[in-house]
Amino acid sequence: MADCLFCKMVTGDVPATVVRDSDGAVAFRDINPQAPTHVLVIPREHYTDLADLTRSDPVLLGEVLDTAVRVAEDEGIVDPGYRVVFNSGAGAGQTVFHVHAHVLGGRGLSWPPG
Ligand code: AMP
Ligand code: ZN
Repeated sequence: MADCLFCKMVTGDVPATVVRDSDGAVAFRDINPQAPTHVLVIPREHYTDLADLTRSDPVLLGEVLDTAVRVAEDEGIVDPGYRVVFNSGAGAGQTVFHVHAHVLGGRGLSWPPG
């Protein structure tokens, strides 16, 4: 999609530090990390948010989640634990409207989130 930052990262028009990719998904490091590991996982195809992806292509959602789990394993953050977050809507902090999972870990993560 034109004018979508994450679509441009899929095509290589905007640089990304890619840590994993597959047919349907790409994982890259967040430019403003909030934890020692902070990786974003996106579908290559453009969907705006979690509801759009879930209802349009639940198999692709599964690939995004599988990629998130593999990133956590590769990063060595499974023990003691990590968090996967989809900010959904501006009020929840979504700023890029190409659906993405945040994979966060490598430090203690408090609950509830802010
Ligand atoms: P959200 O606020 O949930 O929509 O998450 C968007 C995320 O994208 C934020 O954590 C940003 O730091 C991150 N971000 C923005 N621009 C880039 C970029 N060029 N490369 C990597 N991450 C980015
Ligand atoms: Zn996009």
